[in-house]
Amino acid sequence: MKTYELMAPCHFGLESVTKKEIYELGYEISDVRDGRVSFIGDAEAIARANIFIRSAERILLKVGEFRAESYEELFQGTRALPLEEFIPEDGSFWVTKASSINSKLYSPRDIQSVMKKAMVDRLGRIYHRSWFEEHGAKYPFRVSLYKDQLTVALDTSGESLHKRGYRLKAGKAPITETLAASLLLLSGWRAELPLIDPMCGSGTFLIEAAMLAAGISPGADRAFTAEGWSNLVPRKHWNEAVTEANEQIDRGILAGGAGRALDIQGYDIDPAMLPVCRENAERAGVGKLIHFQLRELAKLSHSGRGGYLITNPPYGERIEDRRNLPLLYTELREAWEGLDHWKLYLITAYEDAQRYLGRADKNRKIYNGMMKTYFYSYGIRPRQEKK
Ligand code: SAH
Repeated sequence: MKTYELMAPCHFGLESVTKKEIYELGYEISDVRDGRVSFIGDAEAIARANIFIRSAERILLKVGEFRAESYEELFQGTRALPLEEFIPEDGSFWVTKASSINSKLYSPRDIQSVMKKAMVDRLGRIYHRSWFEEHGAKYPFRVSLYKDQLTVALDTSGESLHKRGYRLKAGKAPITETLAASLLLLSGWRAELPLIDPMCGSGTFLIEAAMLAAGISPGADRAFTAEGWSNLVPRKHWNEAVTEANEQIDRGILAGGAGRALDIQGYDIDPAMLPVCRENAERAGVGKLIHFQLRELAKLSHSGRGGYLITNPPYGERIEDRRNLPLLYTELREAWEGLDHWKLYLITAYEDAQRYLGRADKNRKIYNGMMKTYFYSYGIRPRQEKK
């Protein structure tokens, strides 16, 4: 079976999570760098990676790599790639995204147009034609330049993998589904333990948690660009991966049978968020597994010993909200301390969070898009009486 190098872009700072997921799917890791994990896989891996990996943004198929400091080198390098091994005669091909860091070539539009010309040139010679109708399947390329080294890859996913299909509505500052899943995986939460997001917004953490607990794979219900690539990924691989995904669903948890009921709860102070959470959870197939309720942080309570708080509190996006942050983060500390042996995890861009929460046991810097955020973890503490 032919193998490829596949690349999974992920959140900066969370490469270890993606690496673990890929490893557990059964593939060999070939490279890890900031924001990207590469691995070796065959055609079946393209289908499985798209359907099962929770933490990656997309799955790319590497076509080649070369140095380019000028447009002439870009043209020649592109023309030397074995494009015909990937693109059939009727395929539609273009560079959908070009990014450049510390490199001489940096204009995405110019990179895109030079590469398209070079692709037409090569494929034209191979297929003996001077123009292409391009009415077949889509083959979008994503290329990245780093210190003049160009990596050329085909995008197998299409829409970013964080678009699982369940979140049609969100609140003001939603966390992406892939980031929420990554942080949950990092936290080590297990389905036997209660989980609460006391400021849950559109419910992303909890929906991802319920899907994880019930074994619902993130991509079984959506489409991927590479499904159109009958020349590279036979249909049976997609069907088999969906069957595998269906088999992994834990019907006992979904039915909430004796001893299998999850304790996953979401609260928010904003009444507008409740229907949003419920609809999203319903669409994700986990509507019955999460209890959403209107409740302010200061009223948080749970009688159980041991559990996880995971949350993404406001961080003062608007200046007028900043004034409330000391109180809000103090309330969060008090709410957590009022619980018996619970862990607390939060992701925030608020620089002063530890002033009000106390020193975190662990602090990880994570880039959420271009925004620098922190993921703080606090280990268990015995319950403290409110002062
Ligand atoms: N992670 C969420 C977004 C959270 S935004 C998502 O993916 O959608 C922060 C949320 O905290 C907002 O929905 C806001 O209404 C809520 N919030 C702010 N102050 C609160 C308080 N005192 N008690 C409960 N919720 C609060």
